[in-house]
Amino acid sequence: PDNSRTLSEALDQWARAIPGSVALRHGEVTVDWRTYDRHATQVANGLAAMGLKRGDRVVYLGKNGWRACELAMGAARAGMVIVPVIWRLAPVEIAYIVEDAQAAALFVEPMFEGQAFEGPRMTMDDAFDAWRDGQSDAPAAAAIDRGDVFLQLYTSGTTGMPKGVMLTHRNATVLRPIMQDQGLGWFSAAPGDTLIHAMPFGHIAGVGSVTSAANGGQELIIHTEFDPALILKDIQRYRAKWAFLVPAALAMMLDHPDAKDADFSGLEGMAYGASPIPLDLLQRGVERLGCDFAQMYGMTETYGTVVSLAPEDHRPGREHVMRSAGKALPSVEIRILDEDGNPLPPGTIGEVAINSPTNMTGYWNKPEETARVLSPDNWLLTGDAGIMDAEGYLYIQDRIKDMIISGGENIYPAEVESAIYGHPDVADVAVIGVPDSLWGEAVKAIVVPRPGTAPEPDRVIDWARQRIAGFKCPKTVDVVDALPRNPSGKILRRELRAPYWEGRDRQVN
Ligand code: ATP
Ligand code: MG
Repeated sequence: PDNSRTLSEALDQWARAIPGSVALRHGEVTVDWRTYDRHATQVANGLAAMGLKRGDRVVYLGKNGWRACELAMGAARAGMVIVPVIWRLAPVEIAYIVEDAQAAALFVEPMFEGQAFEGPRMTMDDAFDAWRDGQSDAPAAAAIDRGDVFLQLYTSGTTGMPKGVMLTHRNATVLRPIMQDQGLGWFSAAPGDTLIHAMPFGHIAGVGSVTSAANGGQELIIHTEFDPALILKDIQRYRAKWAFLVPAALAMMLDHPDAKDADFSGLEGMAYGASPIPLDLLQRGVERLGCDFAQMYGMTETYGTVVSLAPEDHRPGREHVMRSAGKALPSVEIRILDEDGNPLPPGTIGEVAINSPTNMTGYWNKPEETARVLSPDNWLLTGDAGIMDAEGYLYIQDRIKDMIISGGENIYPAEVESAIYGHPDVADVAVIGVPDSLWGEAVKAIVVPRPGTAPEPDRVIDWARQRIAGFKCPKTVDVVDALPRNPSGKILRRELRAPYWEGRDRQVN
């Protein structure tokens, strides 16, 4: 049964059911459900008054904030499409997205005011408030359908130019009714529960928490951007129940001096995902926070989570599944495919394919690229290599494009990184393949030292050798100050590889 709905209907529901409860909390500002709902209507009417039509793209350029939530809900209510841009991108990348989306209006925070744009624009400060308050709060005229696209989110661009992923109201709301009572974080959070929103609004983990809270009636504690000290503070101050952090952010929070005496007893759960997590980091987190942990695997194209490792699989005795991303959510199907697209049996490595009611409708203006990854019967190719065991646990190896072929053996960087990560002198690590005349490619580790240490390459290699097969161990180790990561915390291996591959073609699998 399809119990999805529009986000507009969801807002409506909470405005009636819990009008005076806090919907959005951002620093000193709180917005209750009644006000959130009214503001969304006013924004919808204001967008229409600007001359925008159903299906028009509204770009938001800024950090996380309560105004961004109101804008997104207002655009959704008007049948328009919000395009949240990751503000950390370089100006040329931002310009590319604004252009590609054929933006009909630009809503921009004061610090990004310099962004060139011909067309209606609005500054996200008092000017936005005054504009919104000047609009009628009579129900918006637009007839919208749950199958309408309301969100166009650009992929992280980890592997190439970002693509505009088109996502619908249905994608955003279809899983909650199926997932209730499954003990999986936001999915089963009750109305009024508090959720921390600290991942960028321009990433599915960020905007996804905004729509999830709007759909489920949770109070969203908004962080302008990820700040480990502030997260620690709010977890305690508001006794926040759930937070989603990417592994790099979780590590920063655990390593922060304030984590030492922090009281995590109010925290019900920590959701993590979006990139591979080193086992050592996960175990450290479980031990220190003492709350439920839930892994999330998914991508922009699947509206985020489609596979999850449940809290009970993080408990003692379940160590063998802790390296997995978990099992497919109810109503989601996963297959592992060979190069010709045929399903492989359990225990065999291949490309992960996903059939989920949350799958995107396609990439904006890219029919060929859409056809390459999304079949007419809704199977989505992920570009990730994975193995499924007989019980249905999915082990994500890594991106197929990052696989290293050395002496005919396939090596996945994430596994090697996870093995090296626990080394006492290593704060961060990336593994790449570099050209090698004998092996084709050779494994190289690039490590960031913990403060006050100087990791010795031979020691690091020995450490790895005690943990993984010899052929997977790095042949060389470089020491650097920091690793290049994209705004969602993913290591940019493409950038790390570039200097070694200059003038040569890397065989991409
Ligand atoms: P682009 O498609 O533009 O290269 P991207 O794939 O990094 O960018 P996202 O949609 O944000 O953009 O990321 C999805 C990818 O993140 C997945 O395909 C997978 O490689 C990785 N990923 C997500 N969750 C997990 C997880 N729990 N464990 C391991 N990897 C994960
Ligand atoms: Mg991708």
